[in-house]
Amino acid sequence: MAALGVDVGGTATKAVLLDDAGTALEVRSLPTPQPGGSVVGEVLDVVAGLARELPAGRVGVAVPGIVDERRGVGVFSENLGWRDVPFAELLAERLGRPVAFTHDVRAGAVAENRLGAGRGARTMVFLPIGTGIASALVSDGRVHDADGYAGELGHVDVGHGEPCVCGRAGCLEAIASAAAIARRYTASTGREVHGAVDVARRVEAGEPEAVAVWDEAVEALAQALAWTAGVLAPEVVVVGGGLSGAQDLLLEPLAKSLSERLTFQREPRLVPAALGGLAGCHGAALAGASRAEP
Ligand SMILES: [Zn+2]
Repeated sequence: MAALGVDVGGTATKAVLLDDAGTALEVRSLPTPQPGGSVVGEVLDVVAGLARELPAGRVGVAVPGIVDERRGVGVFSENLGWRDVPFAELLAERLGRPVAFTHDVRAGAVAENRLGAGRGARTMVFLPIGTGIASALVSDGRVHDADGYAGELGHVDVGHGEPCVCGRAGCLEAIASAAAIARRYTASTGREVHGAVDVARRVEAGEPEAVAVWDEAVEALAQALAWTAGVLAPEVVVVGGGLSGAQDLLLEPLAKSLSERLTFQREPRLVPAALGGLAGCHGAALAGASRAEP
């Protein structure tokens, strides 16, 4: 029986129809409604529209922010501007049947673990690097969620003075997210760039200011992953986001710096994500498919 997975992202809402073998039959993408008084109702409209377009026996929906899966509540989303939304209940009401409700990054981790770059790993970290930095831990094939609070690797202190959106300074995300790399390059040179990919091109060309910003991001990531290797000992770290394809610019120097920081700890393999921006909706579909019958 096919399962529909919907991932409500900050800018786009993506949907995939997966067959029993985990193969994508159809993919759709629509703009996500923007924050405001009626954002939750508008998000429900988008999901209901996708469910009509791609009929499936089972449905899973993933959203960003802090998500309490057990209670079925979207606790907080800074980007979409909601607090304490009983999504599982609202979705069931709207779609006329039970819906698996989950978190975008944790869903992505499950998808990469079962269908993607982390296949076969018992313990794995999924680390998407985008506007922010999130992470999710898979242990023995299950995601560690801790009522929605686990995985905030973006907000560990890696020892620098830059302010973070969370209100503190020193966070990994404030120096190593794709947005931070672009912002810091512009701050140091006065030159506008089209995102971190543009900075990566300048690193390849050997531009010293770009190399400096890039190296600081890589070192900060290595520091955070060294802690992660010590505490969680993942076999694999699946790196996601637009920069993860930059094997020789990002993954190789990161693996080298991480290796230098470890002594007896298990050294994880660093691999680029396989499902790209569709990991979240694949994971939502898997959550829908595995949902127990009421
Ligand atoms: Zn922070």
